[in-house]
Amino acid sequence: MSLLTKQDGKRNIKLKDFDPGANEGLSEAEAIAQSAKLLTELKDLQYLLYAASQTSVLVVMQGMDTAGKDGAIGHVMTGLNPQSCKVASFKVPTPIEASHDFLWRIHQQTPSKGNITIFNRSHYEDVLVTRVHELVPKKVWSARYGMIRDFEALLTSAETIIIKFMLHISKDEQEKRLLEREKEPEKAWKLSAGDWHERKYWDSYQKAYEDALNETSRPDAPWYIVPSNHKWFRNVAMAETLVKTLRPYRKQWTKHLDEMGTVAKKELAEMRATGKE
Ligand code: AMP
Ligand code: MG
Repeated sequence: MSLLTKQDGKRNIKLKDFDPGANEGLSEAEAIAQSAKLLTELKDLQYLLYAASQTSVLVVMQGMDTAGKDGAIGHVMTGLNPQSCKVASFKVPTPIEASHDFLWRIHQQTPSKGNITIFNRSHYEDVLVTRVHELVPKKVWSARYGMIRDFEALLTSAETIIIKFMLHISKDEQEKRLLEREKEPEKAWKLSAGDWHERKYWDSYQKAYEDALNETSRPDAPWYIVPSNHKWFRNVAMAETLVKTLRPYRKQWTKHLDEMGTVAKKELAEMRATGKE
């Protein structure tokens, strides 16, 4: 049994069926212990991914304001070697970015072979904030789902493993977190009047998320809806999903490394035999 369900597009997703406070019967202490174990395995898998350099990994992080994207990325990164992993954050497009198609800035940041890239927000903003605030006409944003499916299929065809996380919090939890930012001096820097303004659009955002999830969940580019009211559950659920997605590649990557090692040793032996060192 897995903590999260792989959304491959076969079932219709209704966000109200997903409890943002779910914990699958885990206690906080159990979740933290499991997470630590999983992150150790993740580092091991990352090493094989990097060494074999046959595949790349793209992790997409989306969620409402305060859903915990930054915290979740920080947690996952504790289990990764920064040498072959990076985070790309997507903010309001710069004038140059805005003067190109919406995937232009995204494609430049996709991972090369052997590497992991985590997207902190992504091309999905162009069917979320853009839709909710009517920044472009419906005709334009609605055509983007197909473009996103095609774009992700292109990445898959270039051996990119895609994992998309939607961090799911409740409206009450968001209010609690926004108020915490005001109370706690070390969180106050994150305050933004805009977040309270965006909150007014909660229902429109939920609808836009639901449509995006249904339009773009595919077997090779699945979404995972992560109950995120409990940060410790969010962390263990993401760690487990990453490990379970990469684990099946262990054999293939190890085999490739063995082959690479055999070739290298053969070359070395020939060099020594011929004395051409
Ligand atoms: P933050 O993640 O808190 O730093 O905020 C980044 C802001 O950039 C959020 O309000 C996003 O909605 C906004 N943003 C990201 N991508 C886009 C986009 N393509 N169009 C408009 N706003 C965007
Ligand atoms: Mg923000």
